[in-house]
Amino acid sequence: MNTSIIVCPHCGTKNRILLEKKDQHPKCGRCHQPLPEELLNPVLTLRCSQCRAKNRVPLAKLADQPKCGRCKASLPTEHVTDGRPVLVSDGNFAQTVLQSPQPVLLYAWASWCSVCSGINSTVDQLAQETKGKLRVGKLNIEANPELANRYNILSVPAFFIFDAGQLKEHLPGAVPKYDLMMKMATYI
Ligand SMILES: [Zn+2]
Ligand SMILES: [Zn+2]
Repeated sequence: MNTSIIVCPHCGTKNRILLEKKDQHPKCGRCHQPLPEELLNPVLTLRCSQCRAKNRVPLAKLADQPKCGRCKASLPTEHVTDGRPVLVSDGNFAQTVLQSPQPVLLYAWASWCSVCSGINSTVDQLAQETKGKLRVGKLNIEANPELANRYNILSVPAFFIFDAGQLKEHLPGAVPKYDLMMKMATYI
C-alpha cells in the first residue's frame, strides 16, 4: 500500500498516512491537530529544460508527465525525488546538471583524496535531507577528465553550484554541511 510519513509540526509525531486518504484532512494520531496541507501535498518547483521557466508541480502529479506552463515541453522528472546523489559523468553532464529541473550541488572527489571519503556520507545525507528541492551530484574527477578539465578542478574535495544551466559558485575544500545548505538556500 502507498503510504507517506508526515511529521506532525505540533508534536513531532511521525504519522503514516495512506496516500488515498490524503484528501480527507487527516489528523495527527497523538495530538489530533489537523496535518498541514502543504505537508500532505508537497509541491515541487521544476525548471523547464527548454525555456528555463520554473513550474510548480504537485508531487502527486509527478507521474502524469507534467508539461511546462510556458512552452509546453515535457518537464524532466527523473531523479527529482530520489533522495540520493546522482552520479555525474562526462557523458551525462548536460542532461543531469545543465538541464536539471532543480538547482544542483555537485560534489567533486577522487579516490586518492583521504578527506573526500569522510565527506561522502555527508553528501549522501544532504541529498536525503533536501529531497525534492535540489539535486545533489557526485563527480569522480579521475573517471571524468573532460569535466575536470572544463571546470579546472585542480583540487578536491570541491563543490559547485549550478542553476538554470549555469555555474553559479565554486566552493573549494571540505565545506561544512551547514554552509552548503545556506549557499543552496539562495537557489531553492
Ligand atoms: Zn501531533
Ligand atoms: Zn518551458
